Amino acid sequence: MLKFLGNGSCFNTEVGNNSCYYYNPEDKSILLIDCGESVFERIMKRKLLGNVQTVDILITHLHSDHAGSLPSLLFACQFGLQIKPTVIYPEKEVISDYLRTTGNEQDEFLLATPEEYERFDIRYVRQNHSKFINAFGYLLCIDGKTIYYSGDAHDINPEILNKLNVGEIDEFYQDVTRYDNSAHLNIDRLNEIVLPKNRDKVICMHFDDGFTKEKARELGFKCAETE
Ligand SMILES: [Zn+2]
Ligand SMILES: [Zn+2]
Repeated sequence: MLKFLGNGSCFNTEVGNNSCYYYNPEDKSILLIDCGESVFERIMKRKLLGNVQTVDILITHLHSDHAGSLPSLLFACQFGLQIKPTVIYPEKEVISDYLRTTGNEQDEFLLATPEEYERFDIRYVRQNHSKFINAFGYLLCIDGKTIYYSGDAHDINPEILNKLNVGEIDEFYQDVTRYDNSAHLNIDRLNEIVLPKNRDKVICMHFDDGFTKEKARELGFKCAETE
């Protein structure tokens, strides 16, 4: 359901920062999830906004591989498209401060928390990712499907894992790493906690490198593919 512009981690510049979108041709709207350093360039190269009337951007956290080119995208909406985009984030003050320091005019975009946002039903989950900033994952209902999107997370919230186990999640997007660290979910750990019968619903993303992706596939998971 989600189309990926990039599927790499912060340092995997070759495949681009992890980011995806849902485009609805009926109302010409786009919901972009994350807008890291390399994402704006890819949006422009693909002319993704050429036929779009509504731009909504859901941000998982403010690491630069997730929000680094958000300021440029907002400027493009303001000056190029004359569209007032909506930025969706649980901590409005935090993202507002970020966009103030980048010189984005506060009345040229809308800010909404997931609860306030009306186009899709979105619920946030607080993730274990960084000691210094908050990070969020999301449960989204799009076109009758329930999607989980981890953003960057060291583990899977038990409530979310339970939803996967009881069949309440249709597509489960999970960041993975081959390393043992406190920021992302180790692929071996994912292998331990996700039952084989549920693996075709789990789409791994945010790859360190080709090795991690290959391993995810060997273990029976799907992999996010860039268009
Ligand atoms: Zn990241
Ligand atoms: Zn991060």
